[in-house]
Amino acid sequence: MTQKRIAIFGSTGSIGTQALDVIAAHSDLFSAEILTAQSNDALLIKQALQFNPNIVVIGDEKKYLIVKEALASTSIKVFAGEKALEEVAGLDCYDMMLAGIVGYAGLRPTLQAVSMGKAVALANKETLVVAGDIVMQKARENRAAIIPVDSEHSAIFQCLIGEGNNQIDKIILTASGGPFLGKKPNFLVNVKRDHALQHPNWTMGAKITIDSATLMNKGLEMIEAKWLFDLTPEQIQVVIHPQSIIHSMVQFQDGSIKAQMGLPDMKLPIQYALAFPKRITNNFPRLDFKKQHALSFEEPDIKTFRNLALATEALNKGGNMPCILNAANEIVVYAFLRNRIGFLDMTEVIQQAMQKIPFIEKPTLEEYFETDGEARNFAASLIHM
Ligand code: NAD
Ligand code: MG
Repeated sequence: MTQKRIAIFGSTGSIGTQALDVIAAHSDLFSAEILTAQSNDALLIKQALQFNPNIVVIGDEKKYLIVKEALASTSIKVFAGEKALEEVAGLDCYDMMLAGIVGYAGLRPTLQAVSMGKAVALANKETLVVAGDIVMQKARENRAAIIPVDSEHSAIFQCLIGEGNNQIDKIILTASGGPFLGKKPNFLVNVKRDHALQHPNWTMGAKITIDSATLMNKGLEMIEAKWLFDLTPEQIQVVIHPQSIIHSMVQFQDGSIKAQMGLPDMKLPIQYALAFPKRITNNFPRLDFKKQHALSFEEPDIKTFRNLALATEALNKGGNMPCILNAANEIVVYAFLRNRIGFLDMTEVIQQAMQKIPFIEKPTLEEYFETDGEARNFAASLIHM
């Protein structure tokens, strides 16, 4: 059997390193053909020496020579810079992209992959939040399969297998609630980055961990779900489920609900997407119902976690509004991580950006790029960065 050749965009991140663990455990099924990283040259070099890919790309051009020299005795090709990421995504040497770059930076390479008709295992939810209509259209035109990696969307995808044209009443996205579940604004006003970075159930990159603490992550996931599963906003519900055992659910037209469950471990949805349509064995810990005594559910507190309300507004409004929301959010999250802005101030900046940046109902790709830039500049100007 031939190996599936995987291009891991963002190989040094939380998703990327776990994807490489999956590949290492199943080297008969998968090979890593392309590895990319933004700035962690040391880890990229180590991964390249272990997995012997065809190509590596380092985003930060200042690190090109370090990577090039470290790999000089190998046949691995080394490229650097943002443009190279997009160009490499357009090459023929791989079968599936694992889109594991964080944020808007993942959009262009992912769009390039779907334009080439490549299968994409999609972790980078921001790609669909920013330009979901264009990405899905390109995927349809070029018969590029997009298999979600985000655990909620993987759950929904799995629930829909075998359902053909059966109507969906709604999907129910579960949210852990993050580290500040049950807290009120008088507490949140004083929250600092180190506390916000302590997620109860998942270990992830810094950006998504902050998004989980503010519930913006669930808002982005609502928009991601709309595009992946062709849903109306009314068909998307969020419920808080602190144990993160049910990864999400689908309710069908007859009222029946399917759920996908498991311990919170991103390796499972990563492996599922890489191996799809096959399920393959692994030694991941199993859920034991004799030890899992309770699964509980509650309504999200959108008066306190207003980012979720703002994301719902962007979902309803459509056009470039989710792109504005995402761009402003990226700016405030990195400002918060650098202690430049308070936890609750993040919402204020995003809201002002949504009011200020001109609304476009049916943006072109170029207009999405422009919107992103404008919203970033505006948000940054409010923080005096
Ligand atoms: P991370 O910060 O751990 O890793 C990000 C990766 O992207 C790194 O390899 C980094 O080098 C690269 N990168 C960062 N900025 C870049 C840029 N400007 N240009 C090119 N490459 C860049 O992030 P993560 O937690 O692995 O998340 C990756 C994506 O997957 C995000 O979109 C996130 O929302 C999504 N996701 C992550 C998890 C998780 O458990 N970590 C779960 C679901 C979805
Ligand atoms: Mg998720």
